[in-house]
Amino acid sequence: MSPDILDRDSVPTIGFIIRETASAFAEAGLETPGLDARLLMSHTLSCDGARLVAIENDRLGSHQAELFEQLCERRLEGEPVHRILGHREFWGRHFILNSHTLEPRPDSEVLIEAVLARIDRSGRHDEPLHILDLGTGTGVLGLTLAAELRSSFAILTDISSDALQAASLNAQELGLAKRVSLKKGNWFDALKDCDGRAFDIIVSNPPYIPSGTMSGLQKEVRLHDPVAALDGGNDGLDPYRVIFSQAVRFLTPEGVLVVEHGFDQRDVLCLLAEESGWRVESQLNDLGGNARGLVLTPD
Ligand code: GLN
Repeated sequence: MSPDILDRDSVPTIGFIIRETASAFAEAGLETPGLDARLLMSHTLSCDGARLVAIENDRLGSHQAELFEQLCERRLEGEPVHRILGHREFWGRHFILNSHTLEPRPDSEVLIEAVLARIDRSGRHDEPLHILDLGTGTGVLGLTLAAELRSSFAILTDISSDALQAASLNAQELGLAKRVSLKKGNWFDALKDCDGRAFDIIVSNPPYIPSGTMSGLQKEVRLHDPVAALDGGNDGLDPYRVIFSQAVRFLTPEGVLVVEHGFDQRDVLCLLAEESGWRVESQLNDLGGNARGLVLTPD
């Protein structure tokens, strides 16, 4: 055997590295070790999962091996895998994140499902509906609705211009820039120059963690999601108070308000909504069966 072949044989294949990494991740207690290892390898090689399977007997170049190792170290230090990748899928689409945006979660997809089902029932799917997403972050909620409802227009608001930058990039990447506008400001203050504008759909996943319990959050959330996207004030309900008291002014008479909330906030939020003049049309559970959202109409 020539020294060359000996050398080559001593370099592990991509498939082998993925398996070894997955067991190291499992040993470190990560929840989805195999998936994380494959995602980080796909990112290293700029390829998708299918391609990764096809090249599992190939070997990494030295730069790639070094990059992969750095990504794995970040993961082992507790950085969430989608923060490392800088993007996450939501409702089948690709969303770019930055350090000022919440990482989109599949739980929020129940809000999309509820809105689309309601619009389909009313037969208005192809109408030029107006959508408002308050505290948009990456833009997942408003942009997904705008993408699904092809004749709609959406306004996305956020208090953070850095978050709006991510939402703007996502709007462009999804080819939605012409039907979407971005406005900076705190809740409805962002709409100062849109007086009298009425929306068919207002959607929001506001910060809802009570300030005093922030330190008890899961490490991946506490250390890597932005505080401004999480902290909902003393009892976690401050943003809902603002939204419930003002949204009716910005809704069409048949319009709907859909909000996400924490797993233990359903009862208190239903009360708050009813006291503020809303009818609870439906209560939404997420994929894990937890209370997750409310569909509200003006009473
Ligand atoms: N609307 C965004 C999302 O659902 C951001 C929510 C937030 O920052 N609280 O991910």
